[in-house]
Amino acid sequence: MNYELVIGLETHVELSTESKIFCSCGGHSAAKEPNDCVCPACSGMPGMLPVMNKHVVELAVTAGLMLNCDINRYTTFDKKNYYYPDLPCAYQITQLNHPICTNGCVNLKTSAGARDIRIKQIHMEEDAGKLVHGGKYSYVDFNRTSVPLIEIVTQPDFRSAEEVVTYLNKLKSMFRSGGISECEEGAMRCDVNISVRPEGSEEFGVRTEIKNMSSFEAIEKAIRYEAQRHMDALEFDTEELVQETRRFDDASGKTFAMRNKETEADYRYFPDANLMPIIIDDEWLEKIKANKPAAVDEKAEDYRLAGISDKEIDMLISNNKISKLLDDIVAMGANAKDGAAWILTDCAGILRKDGKTLNDLVITAEKLYAVIKMVDNGDISRNAGKKILIAVVEQGVDPVTYCKEQGLDKKFDVSAIEAVVDKAIAENPQSVEDFKNGKVKALQALFGACMKELKGAGDPAVIKTLLEAKLK
Ligand code: ADP
Ligand code: MG
Ligand code: ZN
Repeated sequence: MNYELVIGLETHVELSTESKIFCSCGGHSAAKEPNDCVCPACSGMPGMLPVMNKHVVELAVTAGLMLNCDINRYTTFDKKNYYYPDLPCAYQITQLNHPICTNGCVNLKTSAGARDIRIKQIHMEEDAGKLVHGGKYSYVDFNRTSVPLIEIVTQPDFRSAEEVVTYLNKLKSMFRSGGISECEEGAMRCDVNISVRPEGSEEFGVRTEIKNMSSFEAIEKAIRYEAQRHMDALEFDTEELVQETRRFDDASGKTFAMRNKETEADYRYFPDANLMPIIIDDEWLEKIKANKPAAVDEKAEDYRLAGISDKEIDMLISNNKISKLLDDIVAMGANAKDGAAWILTDCAGILRKDGKTLNDLVITAEKLYAVIKMVDNGDISRNAGKKILIAVVEQGVDPVTYCKEQGLDKKFDVSAIEAVVDKAIAENPQSVEDFKNGKVKALQALFGACMKELKGAGDPAVIKTLLEAKLK
């Protein structure tokens, strides 16, 4: 018999916030050493109360908008109770009754064509800590405790492993470009719910849930293994399928039963009376909408129309900081294609010399645009612009002041260049003679002498034109 695969995903994403969800400890990626981002609140000391981080709500709403969800204007938190050493309060603050977003939809383009995956809901919650096992002891690290997460729950709409991976890649690129999460390894974790059913059947089969997967490669392998196990069970009666939670073992490529599926009642959920309901009014929602970056596909399309290459678009789309810098200078008046070159070629080149990448770039849109504007206005040559950019990127100088101090603007001045050209001609009679006798290369020597005198800041086109005119 032919079987159809049915998959639903629960994806946890760590949000890129400055601080944790209910206290002012540093957020995801702030920690350097175990337990150095911990306070009485997030380590569960008696009497400490949670204070909601407003930015978490804004990022969750932004994610909901990107995934075409309804944004619920009234949203509340609940306590999910269970004991584990990495959970200091013995409950997790999450959302059960009134999640922040519901009823979304994501369009996927795979080899099987375009498909819509329905999003059941997105809710906000806090992460748990981490246990570290070593030798005789186990250690607990609370750095991750109370780091904000959103959990995105889909309907059981996936029909293949390929669709799952396409979906996860799409979420990743959207969330990166939207400043929601960098989605590094481990910051995006999935629970994969799987069942199979005879092709054509309307009813769902028994599902199992594979917990806590973060590598896309492993997710694909786990789905293939688990689907085969289900099909064998149905086809050959190899075992009885039960609804349960399983884990995937990467080494053997197999899944193993962990525990029977727990139910809602097991967690004794109840409303968290320490946190007020959050009301998202029109004004706040409009503000979040206005700040929402264009959806990835839309944005890539805009860049493509501006003449930016596919390779550059990939670099921009995967780096929110850089694409925002470009969007900002374009808003100030820079040409998008030219601006992309200034950032992705020039700035990246300057950083590369010191073994750094664009992630290390520190420059304001104002300063970068000031450099570009001087070049575009013809105040300075592009070469001089590059020199100024180096000083801006490396020392944070003010570009206009620096340009004046270094006299880089004067070097573009035609009369200043003319004097240099005259000097080069006067000091190199042999080259002049050679040129007149038809040696084209001699012009290169004179040109080099001018560039040397101008310390590379002169506009090559202007020098060439003046040289040729004078020699004739
Ligand atoms: P629970 O509350 O038990 O976790 P949910 O209704 O929240 O159940 O569903 C959890 C996930 O399991 C969702 O992503 C959903 O799409 C998926 N799911 C539900 N039923 C099935 C099924 N029969 N096969 C595969 N996935 C399923
Ligand atoms: Mg669930
Ligand atoms: Zn804290």
